[in-house]
Amino acid sequence: MQILFLGTSASEGYPNAFCPCENCEAARAAGGPSLRKRCSVLINGDLLIDLGPDLMAAAQQHGVSLADIHYCLQTHEHEDHLDPAHFGSRSQFCGVYGTPTLHYYASQGALDKAAKLLGRQMPPGGLLDPTVGEQLNLCAHVVEPRQQFTAGPYAVLSVPATHAPELTAMLYVISHGERTLFYCTDTGDLSEEAWQMLLAHGRPFDVVIMDHTFGLKKRSGGHMNSEQFVEHIERMRATGMLKVDAQIYATHIGHHSNPPHAELVEFAASAGYQVAHDGLVVQV
Ligand SMILES: [Zn+2]
Ligand SMILES: [Zn+2]
Ligand SMILES: [Zn+2]
Repeated sequence: MQILFLGTSASEGYPNAFCPCENCEAARAAGGPSLRKRCSVLINGDLLIDLGPDLMAAAQQHGVSLADIHYCLQTHEHEDHLDPAHFGSRSQFCGVYGTPTLHYYASQGALDKAAKLLGRQMPPGGLLDPTVGEQLNLCAHVVEPRQQFTAGPYAVLSVPATHAPELTAMLYVISHGERTLFYCTDTGDLSEEAWQMLLAHGRPFDVVIMDHTFGLKKRSGGHMNSEQFVEHIERMRATGMLKVDAQIYATHIGHHSNPPHAELVEFAASAGYQVAHDGLVVQV
C-alpha cells in the first residue's frame, strides 16, 4: 500500500494565509514541509480520502495526476474536507474524457451538502440520481458509520468519529491485501463503541494517521492534542491493534497549537510517533 499525503493541515491551512502568529511566520520562513494544505490522502493512486478544497493545488505541487482515481471516501462534509466543485472539474463539462467512473462513498448529509453547494438544479435524488451520475461521471454510495463494505480491491470499515455531533463524521479502516490503514481524523477521544468495533474488526494496523489539531495545547472534545494522541496509540498497542512495526503519523495540524515541522517532528519523536507532511509518501 502506498500512501501519499496531499494535505496535512487543520481547517484553515498552515500557515493560515491571514494569520500573523509566530508559528505561521516561522512556517512561511521555513517553507518546505512546514507548508501544509488542507487534509487529503491518496492511496495507491486510485483511492482518495476526502475531496478537499486544496486538492487541485496539491496535485499540481506534488506532480500527481488524479485522473485514475476510482474511489473516494468522504470523512465528513466540513469545508476543509469537501469541495464539490471538483466533481465539475473532472466531468466532460470541463473537457475531461476517458476517466473511470468515480465511486464516491459519503454520508447522506455530505451528499446533500455537496448537491446544495454545486448550486444547480438537482433532481430529488441529488447526487444519487443516475442522470447526475452520468453528467459527473460519478457513482455515489451512501455510507453510515458501523458499515463494512468493499470499494474495488479495498475492504473498508466506517467507524463513528467523535466530532461535530450535528453531522455524521466517519473514520475509516482500509485494508488492501495484507495491509491495513486506520485513517483517524477528524475526531476527539474515540467512543467506547468505536474501540469495541476496532477490536472486533481484528485486522492489526500497519499505519495509523491520526488527528493532531491541538498539538501542544489543551485537550479537545472534537479533535486531539498530543496527550490524547499518545493515549490512543498506547491503548491500540496494549490491545494488539498495532503491528509491531506499525507507523504512526500525526495529521490535521493546527497552526495555533503546533510549532513548524522540524520542531514538531522532534517533539513527536520523543513521544514515539511521526508527523506527516504534504508530499510525504509512505510505502507499507
Ligand atoms: Zn478538518
Ligand atoms: Zn497562525
Ligand atoms: Zn471537521
